[in-house]
Formats: sequence, C-alpha cells, structure tokens
Amino acid sequence: MGTVVVLFSGGLDSAVLACHLVAQGHEIRCLTVDYGQAQRPEIDAANHMAMAHNWLLTTLPMGWFATLAPHEGAVVPGRNAVLITLAVAHAQAHGCDLVAAGMHAGDEADFPDCRVWCLKSLGQISKLTYGVDLLVPFTHWPKARVVQLGATLGVPFERTWSCYGRGPRHCGTCLACTNRRNAFREAGIDDPTTYEETVCAG
Ligand SMILES: [Zn+2]
Repeated sequence: MGTVVVLFSGGLDSAVLACHLVAQGHEIRCLTVDYGQAQRPEIDAANHMAMAHNWLLTTLPMGWFATLAPHEGAVVPGRNAVLITLAVAHAQAHGCDLVAAGMHAGDEADFPDCRVWCLKSLGQISKLTYGVDLLVPFTHWPKARVVQLGATLGVPFERTWSCYGRGPRHCGTCLACTNRRNAFREAGIDDPTTYEETVCAG
C-alpha cells in the first residue's frame, strides 16, 4: 500500500484517522499546519502523538492565515480547502499519491469546505490534475462513530486536543469541547478528557 499524507491537527478526528490508516497497513506521513491558531496545545498534541507513534510529522508555518479570522475561535475562511491543497502539494513533492483528511458529518454545518460536494470536487481536482487521491472516510459519519472507531483502535484520546481555548486544560464549554463531550456520550465511551468546567448531564 502507498504512503498516505495525513492532515494531522492533533485533534481527535485526525488522530483516529491516522491510527485507522496504520491499522489498514498504510505507511503515513503526517502534515500539520501552524497557522497561528490560538490553541497551541493542538500543535503540541500533534507533536507528542507523532513522536509516541514514531510517525513522520512535518509542520508548515503559515502564521498569517489566522489573521483572516475576525476574532479568536472564529472560523478561518477557506481553511480546510487550503489545508487539503497544501497536503496534495506535499504528497506530490514526496512521491505520495494519497492524501487523507478526517472531516466528518458534524463538520458540515460550520465549515462549508467540509461538505461532501466540496470534498468530492477537491478530490476530483486533485486526482485529475495531480494524480493524488483524496481519502475522506468519515464524511458521512457523526463524530460519535469516529470516537467508537478510535476506541476499538486504542487511540490515546487523552493526548488529543479539541478546545478553542489556550489550555492547559480543555475549557469544557466552547463549541469544540461541547462537540467532543457529546460525541463521547453518544458513543457510550468514557471520556478521558480533563475539562475546566463540568457540565451537568441532563
Ligand atoms: Zn473548549
């Protein structure tokens, strides 16, 4: 099997994706982009996890990118489309013909470039123009299903980072933390994350 360039943010979804691809027998090269995001712990998580698994990790500095967002925690316009394009370029440069990204169905509402038609179009451009296939295996999955897959693969969830805050712990209340907590609850999997704020179940 060919080597896959994995868009690897240090978040839960891309961690599950990386472990999933390795379990399928792929060699992987991880690519993370430091675009000046507030959540430095996400970059640290990517580094720690790649090191622990002996995965090759390349970090691309793109500090200007976050200046496109109006405030901290806001969606950076075009982020996912740009990241996929960067990963395709990275794949080409390293003789790889596969790129994988961990978008799931729960991303569609907030990120237009995570919608199926967009990913399909980007995949067609990538394949036809550069001969690089785009793998996005979770696009029809809720995040809870990604968590369930991760649990079966033994993904170290506690090493992953989702929060929009600066850390050192997950805030527990931002959109990313809320989605993370809900996904564990819906999956019926114990959430090993330490949150600043506890939220009463109800
Ligand atoms: Zn948070």
